[in-house]
Amino acid sequence: MTDTAGIFERIRVLLAEGNIAPTPSNYEFLYRYLSGADPQLVAAFDAARADGPIGDRTLGNIRRELYGTGRIGVGRVLEDTEAQLARMNDYIERQDAGARDYQSRLGASRSDLDASATLERQRAMLAEMIEATNTMLATTEQLQTELAASSREIDTLKTDLEIARVDARSDALTGLSNRKACCDYLDAQIERAETERRPLSLIFLDIDHFKKFNDNYGHRIGDEVLRLVSASLESFFHGRGFVARWGGEEFVIVMPLHEADEAAQFAERFRQHIGTRTVRTRDTGRDIGRVTLSLGVSGLIAGDTAQHIIDRADAALYDAKADGRDRVVCWQAAA
Ligand code: GH3
Ligand code: MG
Ligand code: MG
Repeated sequence: MTDTAGIFERIRVLLAEGNIAPTPSNYEFLYRYLSGADPQLVAAFDAARADGPIGDRTLGNIRRELYGTGRIGVGRVLEDTEAQLARMNDYIERQDAGARDYQSRLGASRSDLDASATLERQRAMLAEMIEATNTMLATTEQLQTELAASSREIDTLKTDLEIARVDARSDALTGLSNRKACCDYLDAQIERAETERRPLSLIFLDIDHFKKFNDNYGHRIGDEVLRLVSASLESFFHGRGFVARWGGEEFVIVMPLHEADEAAQFAERFRQHIGTRTVRTRDTGRDIGRVTLSLGVSGLIAGDTAQHIIDRADAALYDAKADGRDRVVCWQAAA
């Protein structure tokens, strides 16, 4: 308890010291540093801190260097964008103030500039106008440099935002679309299928006794099996269906324009494609046996929501498991 309270106090100190925005992600990051859970983070943080307090930018650099750009939260990109917009707003205000100052200095000089002014007075006014012009030029030049840097920063933010957007819709382990992306796609395709009166089918796939790969060979080999099935699904259904990792060792394939019996034929061919070969691990070439699959298929019925077709394909998958696994079952309306 006291330890955790101590950490929160130290987080507050670091936030204040570097004028770091107190966002949840920064809190979490500083917590990770102070808890010492990641030695690499501690080393990088301490090294940077030796040069002075750590601000938002250095914090961002350390985060990116250690954890890569692969997982940039949308939240952080929004925070950065907000900061960048505030900075640009500041430039514009400074530019505006500079221009107004210049205008008033010139205006004052012009009103004094009449024929009756002495030569000395005219010289002084000219010097004042030159000085005002030089100040204006210097300010403009500095602001242009800052704007150019800001615009480069915005380009980086755009890239970050794109990565974050893709990340939010894909599965980190396999690179396939995730459940959220699949549900969005399915909703959109059901709407199209219904207005265009075209078929659509859904396949639910579950690796049989997947747990045994983890138990017998370790989690890393389990992951390798998941990646193997994912890559095979992607190439097999390329141009035919939308493949997603539903979660764990379950996958979904949405097949627009295909009736359930056609989808079931593809499912059967894929089952044979995977199940008829023995699998070897990539690094050691060790034989880990066959990977068999159970698949449930259902076609769209008029008036369906996504949940309806998902439930039927899932029920068919359940039957495939109950019937002995390593098979395809196509959902049939009860007689
Ligand atoms: P069944 O034939 O009935 O589907 O049996 P199963 O062993 O495939 O199913 P079960 O639901 O009992 O086990 C699934 C296992 O998948 C449990 C979980 O630890 C493991 N798992 C889920 N996600 C991952 C992952 O990303 N990587 C690894 N290696 N294992 C995972
Ligand atoms: Mg399962
Ligand atoms: Mg399973």
